[in-house]
Amino acid sequence: MKLSSLLSKFEEPETLKMAKLGRALRAEGIAITDLSLGEPDFDTPVHIKDAAKQAIDDNYSHYTPVGGYLDLKEAICRKFKRENGLDYLPENIVASTGAKQCIANVVLALVDAGDEVIIPAPFWVTYSEIVKLAGGTVISLPTTAASEFKITADELRQALNEKTKLFMFSSPCNPSGALYSEEELGALVEVFNEFPNVWIMSDEIYEHINYVGKHHTIASFPAMKERTVVINGLSKSFAMTGWRLGYMAACTELAKACEKIQGQFTSAPNSITQRAAITALDAGLEVTKEMVAAFKIRRDKIISLLGEVPNIKFNTPASAFYVFPEVSGLFGKQSPSGEVIEDASDLCMYLLNVAHVSTVSGSAFGLPQCIRISFANSLENIEIGMKKIKDAVQALT
Ligand code: PLP
Repeated sequence: MKLSSLLSKFEEPETLKMAKLGRALRAEGIAITDLSLGEPDFDTPVHIKDAAKQAIDDNYSHYTPVGGYLDLKEAICRKFKRENGLDYLPENIVASTGAKQCIANVVLALVDAGDEVIIPAPFWVTYSEIVKLAGGTVISLPTTAASEFKITADELRQALNEKTKLFMFSSPCNPSGALYSEEELGALVEVFNEFPNVWIMSDEIYEHINYVGKHHTIASFPAMKERTVVINGLSKSFAMTGWRLGYMAACTELAKACEKIQGQFTSAPNSITQRAAITALDAGLEVTKEMVAAFKIRRDKIISLLGEVPNIKFNTPASAFYVFPEVSGLFGKQSPSGEVIEDASDLCMYLLNVAHVSTVSGSAFGLPQCIRISFANSLENIEIGMKKIKDAVQALT
């Protein structure tokens, strides 16, 4: 069978691959502790579910405008004003089938073959693959746990050149939990001011899952709003991963371009989800805050348990629900059955097949000396999973 050459340009998401492997082992009756999850383990709040049920009864069953209903776009504008101090009009907003589709739209709308796209590593798995799909060249800027996985202004300056089309980052960051402060963003903005043709994609989907204070968006700096695309969505803040709703805000020309692309791929996001999203966005963040309080307790627990695992380095994440330890101190060691752990992917497979705990290799996120461990799971499962990891690592020789 001859499939298209496009398929060989990008990888299947490692996160989804690990979930699939975990499910397969579970189907064989093996108890897998899942610390690879990329989603809240909470249920969608009742008031949002009720709004969706009402939308079904009210017959919101037809195709919607491509970029979303006007009143959804208005609710998204209210959110940006209220929570980020940003003024947008509905013409600046595009709602999509998840933030993932927003990101794909933006990259396809901006990036041509030969364009360079700078992405600090670690980065969310999809960024690099979508850029490759668009024919662009990924310029990865590696960071370390010692620098809390953040780039400096100097590192950014060195990577930028006349071929750079786009800079993509997430703050809060999946997978590192890094969070750029207003001062740190300000230092990057000074560099961007020297390169006025570069676009910035700021993925803020974990905005509310923040343990240290106020979220800052790079779009709020003067002169940055016009060249920044802000990505956000309902998946993480409202425990709505399966509902599939993301949104972006950009200058009108880019928003229109994204709508044009979306019109050919998916027509529009789901109508029922859009109605529920209006309720979610307008109802406030009480339930989100309860989730974040629970995540914070879990973060503190997993950090104290990580301290018992030998030969790894880690920092305390300021946001999101992942820890991202450097595990290169374990490379070259042997498992009890004689397999050598060559890299993070070997370590993850060892942890899955022998310790029965699933994590994700940092290679998927552009930093192959790390692994991602999610704490979007119950305290009990975190304790069980971390005990399995500690025992398995201690068994390496
Ligand atoms: N951006 C980041 C950083 C993510 O971690 C995710 C999901 O894991 C997404 C975007 C996509 O979210 P969704 O498509 O569910 O809205």
